[in-house]
Formats: sequence, structure tokens, C-alpha cells
Amino acid sequence: MQPENKSFEQGPIRPPNEAGSLLLRITRNCPWNHCLFCPVYKGSKFSLRTVDEIKADILTARAMADEMTALSETLGFGGSINHDVINAIFSDRRFTDQHRQIAAWLYNRTGACFLQDADNLIMKTNDLVEVLEFLTEIFPEIKRITTYSRSKTVTKKSVEALKRIRAAGLDRIHIGLETGYDPLLKLVKKGVTGDQHVAAGQKLLAAGMEVSEYVMPGLGGQEMWKAHAVETARILNRINPHFIRLRSLRVPPRVPLYEKLRDGTFIMQTDDQLAEEIRVFIETLEGITSTVTSDHMMNLLEEVSGKLPEDKAKMLQVVAGYQGLSDTDRLIYRTGRRGGAFRSTTDLKNDRATYRKLKALVDDIMAKSGPEGVERFINDMVDQYI
Ligand code: SF4
Repeated sequence: MQPENKSFEQGPIRPPNEAGSLLLRITRNCPWNHCLFCPVYKGSKFSLRTVDEIKADILTARAMADEMTALSETLGFGGSINHDVINAIFSDRRFTDQHRQIAAWLYNRTGACFLQDADNLIMKTNDLVEVLEFLTEIFPEIKRITTYSRSKTVTKKSVEALKRIRAAGLDRIHIGLETGYDPLLKLVKKGVTGDQHVAAGQKLLAAGMEVSEYVMPGLGGQEMWKAHAVETARILNRINPHFIRLRSLRVPPRVPLYEKLRDGTFIMQTDDQLAEEIRVFIETLEGITSTVTSDHMMNLLEEVSGKLPEDKAKMLQVVAGYQGLSDTDRLIYRTGRRGGAFRSTTDLKNDRATYRKLKALVDDIMAKSGPEGVERFINDMVDQYI
């Protein structure tokens, strides 16, 4: 078969847990775009897409999915996207990356769809409802639809409007909360206050949506880390979102915060300081039933995850496990974690071969360039994930 040479628009990012979702772009870029730490849409202008444009993209994605099903039938697999069909699609250069993405989505049967870009509740309620209804009609296999939005935008929608959007199929909103500490929200130009974060979260919950709040360890730097940890936890205690997701700060040269880093007015937390910040944050989470995840590669401790309140002690134990390591083992763990070799501090004991290799590497860099050279090496590895 000759695949149709069509494509639909997609944006630059999605949350880590939406890796298996169908990605469709319904607005372009970020309407705010001022956050000092955020590199994603800098230099790109926000624009709404028309309902007709989005519908045309949904139809294109559907046509691609139907092509995959037709190919499966031709190959004798009755329309099912199985391993053989995936192999046929991935080894045939006439298929585009989008064909492959859709084939993988059908194969994995996640039934999940993520709507890109940064703030989709900014769409007029009627338009968003129309898009959602069309999407679920054209793709009946979609079982969960999620998107990003800003708290400030949510506060401008009524609960009734949010309920209509929920009824039309939008299940979950990912919010970049980052911090609950007002002076820090102001410093990083987030354009929202802690109270507005709370109001937005509570509105979404009242409308029956799932709420996923992103927190940014390290954002307070060495000056505000404690207030950042404590006030963020307190704001989350008032919301009780379904999910709290950790995504640690990194500062690439292309973000405005880099200037403050250079002139010394912002000092990054070290990994050891970050561990203490996370301990204080988790310790301050009280009276909520959220699920905490640390599923971003930039996080130091991936195992700080679990359901509150029952897993709180386990999460604190993960931090204590790191803090209880010797200076040498913390350095080796950080090198292994940042290089993708370790996922847990227990790997230090369980994977002795990797431990020995990393120790030899760290010793070598230390001998040639001293402690600063090792820190540079580790930082360079983390920055590859930005
Ligand atoms: S609102 Fe989100 S996408 Fe927009 S600049 Fe801030 S962090 Fe980036």
C-alpha cells in the first residue's frame, strides 16, 4: 500500500507520563511565556487554532490510524495492530514518524490522548467542547483526554464551564504549580499567586476533573529553598490534587534565569541540598490523599513516589537512604543517576560492576580536575535531558 502523504500539527512537549498518548496540538505555544525558568516556547508566538483546523487534524490522524488497520488486514491480521504489523510499518521507509507514532499508539492500546500546547483552557468554552466532542466521536477508542493549563486561566472559567468541558471528555489537567511561595512566584514571573493556584485546583476538582500539579524542586535556589518547600506543600495541602509531580529545575543558557545565575543573584541548590529540600517538602505534606511521582529524568531521587498518606514514611526513607550514604557513595550515585546507569540508591549495592566502573571514572576525573571537575561532569550529564 502507498501511505497518504499527510500530516497533522504537533507541539514540542508532553508530560513524561503521556509518552503513550496520542498527541494533538490544539493551541500553539504559551500565551503567557514570561516564566524565567522555562525554555519551551521562548521566541515562539502564541496563537489559537480554529476549530476547523483542529478538526482537520483529527481527521488526518484518523485516516492514518485507518491506514494502519487496512495494512493489518492486507497482511492477514484482521485489522489488529500486532507486533508483525508494527515491524512492517517501522521497517517501511514510506511511512512517516507520525504513522509510526499512531501505529505505536494503536499497538499499546493506551486509549489516552494529550492535547498540546501550554494553556488549552484559554480556548473559548464552546470551541473546546466542540473539539472534544468531535475528537471522541472520531476516535471512540480514546478513553482519557488530558492537557496542560495555567492556574490563572482556570480561575477565569466558571465551574459550570469546566463541568461542560469535563462532560465533553477532558479528564485531567496538568498544572505547572512550580511553587506555592508568593515571593518566588513573583521572582520567576509565574503570573499567579499561591491563592490563585488553590482557587484553580479547587475549581477543577469541583468540576470533576483530575488535577496533576507540577512542583519544581530547586526553584528557590539557596536563598528561598526552605520557604519554597514549606509553602508549596502548604498550598498543595489546601488543594489535595490527584497527582503531585516533581520536575527539578535546570537552567539552560536560553532561559532568562540564566542571567541571574551568571551574575550570582541566583545560586542553584546542590544535589545534597535538594535532597534536604525534598525531605522538608514531603514532611510538610499533610492531610491529603495525592499520589506523588518523581518520574522526570532530571530528578535526583526517582523513588520519592507513592500514595499519601500511607507512603509518606517510605518516601522520607528514600531521602534518608541518600542522605545516609558516605560522601564517596553519594558522588557515585549522583554520577550513575545523572548518566542513566542508576535509578535507585540500592543500585549501589545491587550492581557492583557498575559501581566499580563509576568509582574508577570519578577517581580519574577527581585526579585530573578536582571536585569542581566532577561537579561539571555531573551537571553536563543532567543538562542533556533539558
Ligand atoms: S506558563 Fe508554562 S509554558 Fe508558559 S512560560 Fe510559564 S512554565 Fe512555560
